[in-house]
Amino acid sequence: PTSPIADLDLPRAELSDNARIVLAKRYLRKDEKGKPVEEPEEMFWRVAYTIAQADAKYGAGEEQIRALAREFYLLMTRRLFEPNSPTLMNAGRPLGQLSACFVLPVDDALSNGQSGVYDTLRSMAMVHQSGGGTGFSFSRIRPEGDLVNSTTGVASGPISFMSLYDSSTEVVKQGGTRRGANMGILRVDHPNVEEFIDCKQDITKITNFNISVAITDAFMRAVQKGEQYDLINPRTQQVVGQKDARAIFDKIVQNAWRTGEPGVFFIDRANFYNPVPHLGSYEATNPCGEQPLLPYDVCNLGSVNIGAFVRDDVPAGEAWSDRIDWKEYRRVTRLATHFLDNVIDANQYPLPEITDLANRIRRIGLGVMGFADLLVRLGVPYNSAEGVEIGRRVMEFLDEESKRESERLAQTRGVFPEWEQSIWGPDETAARAPNGERIRPVRAMRNCNVTTVAPTGTISIFAGCSSGIEPLFAVAFMRNQAGSLMPDVNEDFTAIAHAEGWYSAELMERIAREGHIHFAEVPEHVQRAFSTAHDITPEWHVRMQAAFQEHCDSAISKTTNFPNGATVDDVRKIYELAFDLNCKGVTVYRDGSRDGQVLSTGATKT
Ligand code: ADP
Repeated sequence: PTSPIADLDLPRAELSDNARIVLAKRYLRKDEKGKPVEEPEEMFWRVAYTIAQADAKYGAGEEQIRALAREFYLLMTRRLFEPNSPTLMNAGRPLGQLSACFVLPVDDALSNGQSGVYDTLRSMAMVHQSGGGTGFSFSRIRPEGDLVNSTTGVASGPISFMSLYDSSTEVVKQGGTRRGANMGILRVDHPNVEEFIDCKQDITKITNFNISVAITDAFMRAVQKGEQYDLINPRTQQVVGQKDARAIFDKIVQNAWRTGEPGVFFIDRANFYNPVPHLGSYEATNPCGEQPLLPYDVCNLGSVNIGAFVRDDVPAGEAWSDRIDWKEYRRVTRLATHFLDNVIDANQYPLPEITDLANRIRRIGLGVMGFADLLVRLGVPYNSAEGVEIGRRVMEFLDEESKRESERLAQTRGVFPEWEQSIWGPDETAARAPNGERIRPVRAMRNCNVTTVAPTGTISIFAGCSSGIEPLFAVAFMRNQAGSLMPDVNEDFTAIAHAEGWYSAELMERIAREGHIHFAEVPEHVQRAFSTAHDITPEWHVRMQAAFQEHCDSAISKTTNFPNGATVDDVRKIYELAFDLNCKGVTVYRDGSRDGQVLSTGATKT
């Protein structure tokens, strides 16, 4: 049969063979036998057309919709922008669930003889089947051993419920594409906080959850002063005890040093920037932490491949800002914002509560990927003041251009329905800082939040760029290709090696085998520009995260890597630095601290 897009005269997608394999495995429509029944080009058109069609709601005719779909198609096939995985998998298909991030409420109702905990479990399964990830706060669950009136029994506590959700995630594989991912959050003032901090120290337990402790400003003050802080029973809202803040902080840091978990979520800071405080407060984030959300809140993500905007008509010696094609970056950012606003209308949400809130606040999450590629192409090290400044500036630009597009959309489509009382609205009660000043200037926006930085775990792979704002993980590794081991070397690196005349196949293989580039043949400036996650000290990781956070509505997905020999004290300093630099959370990983690492250098990857 001829392709449904044969007569559209669309250019072929600019994808490597490897990218086509990844798409076939994870995204393309398949028959009952699991054989793909669409080409990547057909998938991109399916997505582009479905999302463009939302413009019909605002008066666009078929001609205009096709023209917009073509622009969306080019954006994705030239790898300038990609939406999150569920949009690619499900747009224009029966499931129609397009978002990656959800937070579902976990009520204490079971202990009152109601079934709240199980209702949420069912919703979780529905989200997972559609390729979305779920975050939960277990902070409202009464503590273990607390009274249960209806049965005159005792409560089993938040961790038992988290284990229940974990087992269920294990059982329900998602729509044949990916297994569920969850975030579990507990407030630091919950009486079971110590059990929570320890609950993943056995690394074979609760494997379908990332966990973070929600840390309050009051707690951090108590840590700084070496004081006790109050524990509160969520059922009664009574103070039921006290703990030594430093001892708890130490426990968090110790465990993070040992296994990478728990992370921390600075919940008061996240809520300070909550755009719709009149509707409730943030209590949890999505699985990878970049998206604080209200109960029943949802976010659809998309990422601009920022490494693509280095101009080849400006010589390498010029100032970095002259070497970026800002005009093209602006065009892509605006079109991407339009795309994500349309996703809200095209979306079929798994629950009516989610549909309702999504339409009232219209949250979207536009971010970047390919940031490490950008730095490499500019010749600027990630671990340098200039690298951090570039991070700040490119994020500021994305944030502002995305907001302008949101304002432009609002002129024809209207502001989001909850705008009046939101952080952006004119209402006198709109969110204010403790000194009475507005948190944000009045802006007539279509969306309550526009920016975030996602991990881009899958989309960066087929887009062939570095993930999110992470540094390069390695310049080269050995890839198992049809049974033989081949060095797979970063393309920018080989291009420079050729251009500067020090390329040799032997050198590339040595680099891939040993997992670093610190050889005499590699010029000093290249060694600096190609700093990888392992060369970069934890401080630079956090400084970069903080620079991106400065102009980002939501939060940043970022892992701070530590060498294996890092001490507990090193980790503590990073947690404190992240708080001081206004980050909304921290995730750390010490090399080798967990068995079966996903990526490893100097080793084989298939
Ligand atoms: P992708 O590259 O596939 O679009 P990201 O790696 O950027 O996704 O992750 C974005 C968000 O998507 C995560 O924070 C999480 O909410 C969700 N997510 C990622 N991986 C999974 C998974 N395996 N199952 C469910 N949700 C996921």
